[in-house]
Amino acid sequence: MKVEIRVSDACYLCGLCVENCPTGVFQITDKHLKVDQENCIYCRGCEVLCPVKAISTRLLDEGLTISRRRTLISVK
Ligand code: SF4
Ligand code: SF4
Repeated sequence: MKVEIRVSDACYLCGLCVENCPTGVFQITDKHLKVDQENCIYCRGCEVLCPVKAISTRLLDEGLTISRRRTLISVK
């Protein structure tokens, strides 16, 4: 799964996304919000909880679909 995460200049480093993202995508270092997109599971919780709606996420690639995964498993 590939997800694009954008954070706008509205971010004021409140830390809510850092504390609540289930996979630790966000970190605040040197007064800057770092985003590790690789770990995102596209739950979209951060979009909802950000007080200033600074975060937007977009699914770029779903990876293998469930039916494709089943096919691969049954071929083994
Ligand atoms: S929740 Fe929003 S304002 Fe707070 S640190 Fe994250 S992006 Fe910035
Ligand atoms: S969509 Fe979910 S997993 Fe991805 S950065 Fe936001 S809270 Fe974290």
